[in-house]
Amino acid sequence: MRSRSPGPLPHAWACHACLDLVNSRWTDHLGSGRVHDRLPLPEWREAFFAHWGLEVRSVGEDRVADLARLRALLRRLLEAFAAGRPLPAADVEALNRLLARTPVIRRLEPAGSTGAAPASPGDRLRLREVPARRDWDWALAEIAVSAARLLAEGEPDRLRVCANPACSWMFYDESRNASRRWCEATVCGSLVKVRRFRSRRPGSGEHGAPRPTSACRRPGPAP
Ligand SMILES: [Zn+2]
Repeated sequence: MRSRSPGPLPHAWACHACLDLVNSRWTDHLGSGRVHDRLPLPEWREAFFAHWGLEVRSVGEDRVADLARLRALLRRLLEAFAAGRPLPAADVEALNRLLARTPVIRRLEPAGSTGAAPASPGDRLRLREVPARRDWDWALAEIAVSAARLLAEGEPDRLRVCANPACSWMFYDESRNASRRWCEATVCGSLVKVRRFRSRRPGSGEHGAPRPTSACRRPGPAP
């Protein structure tokens, strides 16, 4: 049985740009061994960059290789973090090189202003950090920053790969009791529970190698 082909866009974006990039490539949750990849799809690239406010001149074919390298780097780092393993030093260095590509300018401005209006006496002030330029390096660095924030400030126990062994979807568990196990409970959660139930049924003949069920579709963030 083949799973349905996924559409070019997820139903929902993650809370972290790095996870959206990492999840642009995923394994079929039904266990067919198929790998889906949205990175080569112009529609996905345009929607991803627009969603995260990364307005760059081009997200064309020439950008796919850069994004694929960044995706592989971030996946290694985030998986190591989630598993409680030491982060590969070479990967941390590669991430730091990306972060260093975009200088930041600091500006003191009236709070709430766009930076254009002069401050009046009594205005509250804020210190803003703005990128020195908004080019391709900046866009890559912004995605890298979202991963760096997770690695520096996130809780490793909340960063997970879906508990369905066939599914490679990563998520950061924002729930209060940190109990989320699935990319989508109604998809991978239901699938795994149905398979467990069938494998326990006498005479089911499945012996832990269950068939995919037609009731299981890709989760919200997936096709
Ligand atoms: Zn899943």
